[in-house]
This record gives sequence, structure tokens and C-alpha cells, in this order.
Amino acid sequence: MPELPEVETTRKGILPKTDQQTIQRLIVRNPHLRWKVDADLVHILPGLKIHQISRRGKYLLLQTEEGTLLIHLGMSGNLRVLPIGTPAQKHDHIDLELENGWLLRLNDPRRFGAFLWHSHSSGELEKHPLLAKLGPEPLSDAFNGDYFYQQTRNRTVAIKTLVMNSHIVVGAGNIYANESLFLSGIHPQTPANTLSRAQCETLANHIKQVLAAAIEQGGTTLKDFMAPDGKPGYFVQKLHVYGRDNLACSVCGTPIERMVLNQRASYFCPHCQPLKRTKVKTKAK
Ligand SMILES: [Zn+2]
Repeated sequence: MPELPEVETTRKGILPKTDQQTIQRLIVRNPHLRWKVDADLVHILPGLKIHQISRRGKYLLLQTEEGTLLIHLGMSGNLRVLPIGTPAQKHDHIDLELENGWLLRLNDPRRFGAFLWHSHSSGELEKHPLLAKLGPEPLSDAFNGDYFYQQTRNRTVAIKTLVMNSHIVVGAGNIYANESLFLSGIHPQTPANTLSRAQCETLANHIKQVLAAAIEQGGTTLKDFMAPDGKPGYFVQKLHVYGRDNLACSVCGTPIERMVLNQRASYFCPHCQPLKRTKVKTKAK
């Protein structure tokens, strides 16, 4: 599944050929994505200029003078930039043809992606239902140890579940939650409210670190966005625990363990990430 680093890499990959370009034509071969693509867009989009391509969480935002296109890659989507006239392959559902002779093509085999229009007249983009409740961007200053500490105080949920809650912070998907907890020496099942301020600081910093490293690694794949085949924006980074159950911990050699937490596979080193049981106060008799 494309995670935040893949989406950010996609943004950078499509930017050179799409930024400041005027849309000439929209071709929708299959409108049945997660939400049906608005049929009126083939009339609305031509003539509009893409003046900014930004990202919020895992949404790509193509901003024009009339409104913004929200694109989400869902479970299996990818975007590529190809010369106009490049034959469409299976699952190439949408083309956005640009005046410079290139097109932006959305391929999405499982069709959980989104291609939505938000016109300026329908209100502020930040208040869009899909964006309004998102927590801060992990690489922004708004996400830091203090913020994270405050968010954990009244919550007894497992810390890994909290990290993956997009209302708390966006973009810490399963791989990145597992990896940052390992680097922080925190067991995924630790109740959030038992973490110290220092642990929250460490964890927030490691979330930033693993995401930034993945984005940097994604930079090596940018040329793939203009390749006729392949799956641009997908890359494998060196992982410490994710998918490594029964393999030796890279720090101490203890076999990595796997458990299911909130229906997601969770990997940890029982030695480096001990689960500290909170002491139950018992009344002296
Ligand atoms: Zn270990």
C-alpha cells in the first residue's frame, strides 16, 4: 500500500512535467474508484492551470484557480507521467492531458483510490471532510515530543495503535510504526498513557527519522515516474523488525516476534522492547 513516503515521492516524481501546466483534456476510462469520479470533471478541468502540487497526509492536492483535485492512491494506485498518446494498459483508469504534451495517468488495480474535485466555491479545502480531522504532518514542527506527550495522557490504548491513528499524526503506517517503536525501545503494546515525556520525545523523533529516510530513499526512484511500465514510488528500505519474525534482532540477536495488534501485524524484539507491566497498587493489609 502506498504510504506517506511513496505519496511524497510521487509528488516529487510528477512535479517536473505537471507543475504550472494547463489541463487540456480529462479521460476517464473507469469512474468507479472508491468514490465515483464526477462526470462533470471532463468539462470543468480543461483550461485550468495546475499552479501547485502539495500533499496532506496521503492526499495529493493539485491546486488550480477554480479548485483543487484530491488524489489518493488507495491500496494499489500509482501515478505516472507519459507522453500523450501512450497506449493505456489494464487498470489505467484516468488520464489528465496537459498542454506540454504529457499526461498524468492514474493506474489502480484495486480501485480504492480517489479522484475528487473540491471547488473554491464549496469552502475552504482544510475543512474538506477527508482532510478536516487529520492530525499534524509528522515532519512538521507541529508534531513534536510535547504534542505527542499531551495526546497520550488520557489514552490507555496500545501505543502502536495510537501512532497509527491519523487523527493524532498522519502517515505513520504499519511499517513505520513498527520500525520507530523498535528504534525507541518501546513495546508496541505499551499503554499510551504509561509512556514518559522522554519516551514520547524519542518516539516522535524516530517517527520523523524513519519517514524522512524513506522519502530520501524514494528519491532514487524518481525517474520511474516517466517509465512506461513498472510501479513507480514503491521501494523497500532496510527494515529492522517489519516482516522479520523469527529472524535475529540486528542489535541483540534475539528472534523478532510477531503479534497481531488492532488487526495489524506487529513486530518487535522482546529484549530491546520489553513490555513493562504497570505495577498495580495494592492496599497494605
Ligand atoms: Zn533486540
